[in-house]
Amino acid sequence: MMTDMTVIPSIGAALPAAPFHARHLIGGVWMDSADGAVSERISPSHGVVVSRAAKGGAPEAEAAIAAARAAFDDGRWSGLPGKARAAVLLRVADLIEANVERMALLETLESGKPISQSRGEVGGAADLWRYAASLARGVTGESHNALGGDILAVTLKEPIGVVSIITPWNFPFWILSQKLPFALAAGCCCVVKPSELTPSTTVILGELLAKAGMPDGVVNIVLGYGQPVGAVLAADPRVDMVTFTGSTGVGRAIAAAASGTLKKVALELGGKNPQVIFPDADLESAADAVVFGVYFNVGQCCNSSSRIIVHADIAEAFTAKVVALSRKVGFGDPLDPETQVGAIVTPEHGAKIDGYVTAAKAAGAKVVLGGAALSVPGLGAQFYQPTVVTGVTPDMAIARDEVFGPVLTVLTFRTLEEALGLVNDADYGLSAGVWSENVHTCLAFARGAQAGTVWTNTWMDGFPEVTFGGVKQSGLGREIGRQGLEEFLETKSLVMRIGRTRAMWVKTA
Ligand code: NAD
Repeated sequence: MMTDMTVIPSIGAALPAAPFHARHLIGGVWMDSADGAVSERISPSHGVVVSRAAKGGAPEAEAAIAAARAAFDDGRWSGLPGKARAAVLLRVADLIEANVERMALLETLESGKPISQSRGEVGGAADLWRYAASLARGVTGESHNALGGDILAVTLKEPIGVVSIITPWNFPFWILSQKLPFALAAGCCCVVKPSELTPSTTVILGELLAKAGMPDGVVNIVLGYGQPVGAVLAADPRVDMVTFTGSTGVGRAIAAAASGTLKKVALELGGKNPQVIFPDADLESAADAVVFGVYFNVGQCCNSSSRIIVHADIAEAFTAKVVALSRKVGFGDPLDPETQVGAIVTPEHGAKIDGYVTAAKAAGAKVVLGGAALSVPGLGAQFYQPTVVTGVTPDMAIARDEVFGPVLTVLTFRTLEEALGLVNDADYGLSAGVWSENVHTCLAFARGAQAGTVWTNTWMDGFPEVTFGGVKQSGLGREIGRQGLEEFLETKSLVMRIGRTRAMWVKTA
């Protein structure tokens, strides 16, 4: 079984001589935790300590919130013209590009993702900063010019205030860049908490922000775990908004913590994203997109297309095509530039993925490819084989839950209505895809699918200009695009009377 997969052994690349020392950034000062607590991140692929990070507690979280609050309230950032804010964001973009290699190596060693992918994500994130810079100059509201000759009203768009940003480990730098530059473009001040598993690129960004001329206190970074750091960032009354990307369960906990002060909450959560394949589709492209959709980032991706719904007439042949392509995808050493799929983030997560496959088998499903840990010569054990599971019924956990691993489940359909029924029979609604050469099929699918994004004849094409987010339990609010800026703006209505035309309320005569 193993020999017919494409396994990329260790290339024996040189590893950093010492772990990266990650510290908090609070009010422009780099610091360790007051109690000296530290957490170590061991590389899931190479088994070495990649980073040693200050492990924050409530005091660090509260100090960072106080610094952001002071920075926001004195207008050192929100009071600048959009042009001046844009200039800083553009310098950050240039600095990101100048630091891609250093950041990509840490991103790969902490997350397990292939180095070519880390380079693409870190370098590509610069474009998110540039796009956000363009939005900083276009913060505009509405004017109401038809309320009568003696009234003029406008809506002003103002920064919402202090924003807590809590990010996950699967795309540490990319997801941060979907949020932070947009909040900054709006004029907000922020406290960022990266995942405890992947702190380093967020910390390096803190260095770049200072070099780019960001005033102290505008962006603060607190390292540590969800409890207590994330929980304080969600609950503190000095915070006006929390934006979170991560699991649906933690999203619920954050919404509950934020409810105490009714602060705004934006959530980018999980998905169980289907691709539906009709018999008239370009089946070569569809099979390639399915393989990309499920194995990209070892399936540890909110947009993972972890289930396909294939027309019954072509299901067997199409699945065979997907299995054949799966065998050609290079799984292995993330430091080899040829590697397409790297390591699973933690041993516990690997066990969870395997648990779903084992349970599906026990419930009568058939594993037609993979279904076990993958051994990569010269590296540790944290890899999983490309896995395809057929004979799945819609009620099985593997067909409903976000497995977050390189595991594809195959369901079948006969009519568009039946396919949409399966697509929408889910708690999640992040993204969905359809493959057909018939434009009517594609449009009817796009209208009927309950999802924040629908792709037709492609998968996971994204642009800074096109907003992203989920419906149902996949989230609240939108990121990137024009709406990605609007989320960080509050609307104030300003009503003005022209001349002394106001009728007196108190009858004095
Ligand atoms: P997670 O929910 O475990 O953790 C995310 C972040 O929340 C981390 O920084 C963590 O420390 C923090 N956290 C944990 N408990 C907390 C609490 N009680 N209060 C405040 N913060 C807390 O998620 P993860 O395992 O890092 O990431 C994987 C999940 O992220 C998957 O479910 C995936 O679908 C989702 N995700 C969604 C998107 C999207 O855009 N929709 C993108 C990427 C990942």
